[in-house]
Amino acid sequence: MTTPIFAANWKMHLGPSGARRFIRTFLDTVPQSRDRECWFFPSAVALEAVAHEARDRADITVGAQNVHWEAKGAFTGELSVPMAREAGARAALVGHSERRHVFGETDEDTGRKVRVLLDAGLVPMLCVGETIEQREAGETLAVVARQLAVLDGLPPARVAAVVVAYEPVWAIGTGRTATPQDAAQVHAAIRASMAGRGVDAAVVRILYGGSVKPENIRALMAEPEIDGVLVGGASLHAEAWSGMVQVHVD
Ligand code: PEP
Repeated sequence: MTTPIFAANWKMHLGPSGARRFIRTFLDTVPQSRDRECWFFPSAVALEAVAHEARDRADITVGAQNVHWEAKGAFTGELSVPMAREAGARAALVGHSERRHVFGETDEDTGRKVRVLLDAGLVPMLCVGETIEQREAGETLAVVARQLAVLDGLPPARVAAVVVAYEPVWAIGTGRTATPQDAAQVHAAIRASMAGRGVDAAVVRILYGGSVKPENIRALMAEPEIDGVLVGGASLHAEAWSGMVQVHVD
């Protein structure tokens, strides 16, 4: 069994002082544990502050919400992997649905980002998931398979370093959640795809994301296919988030 990951995507919320306040409260409330990992994806300007505050906590990983595949250059507004790493990032989200659907990120882009992150020793958290139209057309597994195809050609050891987050687009920020059984079906397909790339299925980590909140986290985490959660809205409430990462599932 893998260590469960509780990941917070703060999106475009919390600047350096708000993020610092949040993480300090979190560190005071949530004791270090070997039984879980807490990952934080703050805004780019708050990355360094959060990583600095959490530097002594082995159970906390801080990551960037997005990176560019070039190391430097004339890319106004972008964040390179070396810059993110210097600020304390050890991971980065790739292909989040807001990047794909609001900013037009393509599978080709996500593939490049995955590769530069792996080259730099950072963990890519590759987000995949279908829109409501695709789900209703019965295309969920085909869409996810296409999004995972960016891993084609990578050696198994590198694929094993990728964390996958299944986030149905229709569940993100909408209050609608996939049932644990629906999520499990897609997770099983993702796991099979990873195994097909030569990775031990037991070590693959697949998170579920999409309107996870205090009321539904226990049922989701009780599903053996779900190795953790990626949470947007509910991770912005310090008290709720502290409770969510400490949820106990028998
Ligand atoms: C997300 O941003 O990855 C997410 C899952 O958001 P929310 O929890 O708000 O649906």
